[in-house]
Amino acid sequence: MENAVLIHGGAGTPSHMSSILEDILKNIKLENNALNMAINPVISMEDNPFFNAGTGSVPRMDGSIQMDAAVMSGKEFGSVICIENVKNPVLVARDVMIRSPHIMLSGDGATEFAREMGYEYYNPETEAGMERLKKFRGEVAKNGLPDKFKFLEKKSGDTVGAVARIDGNFAAAVSTGGSFPMLRGRVGDSPIIGAGIYAGEKGAVVATGIGEEIARNILSYRIYSEIGKERLETIVKREVDSFTVSCGIIAITGDEYISYSNTTMAYAYREF
Ligand code: ASP
Repeated sequence: MENAVLIHGGAGTPSHMSSILEDILKNIKLENNALNMAINPVISMEDNPFFNAGTGSVPRMDGSIQMDAAVMSGKEFGSVICIENVKNPVLVARDVMIRSPHIMLSGDGATEFAREMGYEYYNPETEAGMERLKKFRGEVAKNGLPDKFKFLEKKSGDTVGAVARIDGNFAAAVSTGGSFPMLRGRVGDSPIIGAGIYAGEKGAVVATGIGEEIARNILSYRIYSEIGKERLETIVKREVDSFTVSCGIIAITGDEYISYSNTTMAYAYREF
């Protein structure tokens, strides 16, 4: 069983972006620890403004930027929900897991915890994100908001995630600015255990796409719980193909891996 890491750049990312992800994996520091091997590429993607995670996260409708991130390894889990003004939410999620008695921290509490852990103030806003908001506000001014805030045209994209297998141990990490457009305080699937992320002794799974629908289906745990009963490819394709909104999965087990999406999705895989 080789050590391996598999990463994605979000449901909706053009497949040609896979070359950025391949470069990230080519240059990544190889570690003998599944958790670090899942977190390290996510940090690189959070720092790349192209991705909707960390720097480059999409703004909420009020212009604020709130980010979600999670990590899972073995039976341990940590996540941050709607955290603000930190550079790498995935590192704060890791600290929730290994340095706090909790599994999830949200809002101001998550941001305050980050400061206590030594993470300095950082503004993840980008020009592209603010332009997108400006355009949306222009459309709302012209046509009004979609009925009942249902946001039927909600778009996912460029969220990032990773799964790793090191010496037979599994870990997963995910980070996102959310799906656009969304209200301040909205929470998607990514920081919810079993929804956007799950890892255990059989493997690791990370989801991307429209978080509300993924969470309603507890998608990552559903896939995880089927591991070993059928081929991984069969399980993942069946689950993803049942979605009518954008949805993608990366998953790894002892002897299989898959990246699959009902839309475009950049990904990269490396064994070592
Ligand atoms: N799943 C993320 C969310 O809904 C978005 C994405 O994967 O692109 O927050």
